[in-house]
Amino acid sequence: MTHVSGIHHITAIAGDPQENVDFFVGVLGLRLVKKSINQDVPDTYHLFFADGEGHPGTDLTFFPWPDMGPGRGGTGVWGEVSFAVPAGSLEYWESRLRAHGVSVGERESRFGEQVLPFTDPHGMSLTLTETTTYPEQPFTPWAASAVPVEHQIRALSSVRITVREPDATEEFLARAYGFARAARDGEWTRYVVGEGAGGQRIDIRADAAAPRGRWGTGSVHHVAFRVSDDTAEARVRSQILEAGGAPTPVIDRFWFKSVYTQAPAGVICEIATDGPGFAVDEDPDHLGEALVLPPWYESRRSTIESMLPPLEIPEASVGVTPDRGESLCPSCG
Ligand code: ZN
Repeated sequence: MTHVSGIHHITAIAGDPQENVDFFVGVLGLRLVKKSINQDVPDTYHLFFADGEGHPGTDLTFFPWPDMGPGRGGTGVWGEVSFAVPAGSLEYWESRLRAHGVSVGERESRFGEQVLPFTDPHGMSLTLTETTTYPEQPFTPWAASAVPVEHQIRALSSVRITVREPDATEEFLARAYGFARAARDGEWTRYVVGEGAGGQRIDIRADAAAPRGRWGTGSVHHVAFRVSDDTAEARVRSQILEAGGAPTPVIDRFWFKSVYTQAPAGVICEIATDGPGFAVDEDPDHLGEALVLPPWYESRRSTIESMLPPLEIPEASVGVTPDRGESLCPSCG
């Protein structure tokens, strides 16, 4: 069997796109590595926030749909998303988030790690997890980030989901992707691939009476798992079929190739190849600065650009190469 190697990216629904960029670049210190459009809804941005080079496993992406109304947690939609931060950095983060007026919860211990819950401007449930173990994956600090390198978000760590029928979900995640039950903490059970390091975890809570969730701003749209290449993707796609899923054909997203399916709990899962990556169509020093369109939309560029609201990227992160060693915004450090 071919196992996925962890979370590749997570895509969520935001409200106002400028507020989305201001929060994930300006407050969380991630790099906007790609500014594109939803390939099915071209008057909607698709914004990708990640580490300094946009490595798979570090990437949280958004469709800003300000008119959609707030989402509702429950079954059928992915829940809270956690980022991995270096051990000992939660104190820094707690004061930084509070200084920016972010709604921050109480620190918790989960599966033996310290976790800081908070909410983004559009109601998305997020946490920072002090993680000492990362999967074997490259991480490039974003030197122009407002966050000092030693505290920067390292990767996506885990994602939560509430289900009514845990057995069906467990079996599907195991047979399709290779996730195995690893630990229990209170009402949450952790499923992992690989060593179960940050980025290789899904936490599941069973609740037979849980209400049905609903997509809206602040909701996760889908979670993508990593496959190394086209061959591994084809194998995992076969496993999805054998596990009773109905995967889409392979869809070329240019920066990776994707296959989507719906898990028994109703949530959308994607598999995505590690390559070719975000530098395939842009200078790595200038990722995310220009609007990148799929080739079939290029002839309509001016129309599409006129439909999209203008976006200002917080100044500290524009046009600076990743090897520049100091923060350009010491006052927001
Ligand atoms: Zn995706």
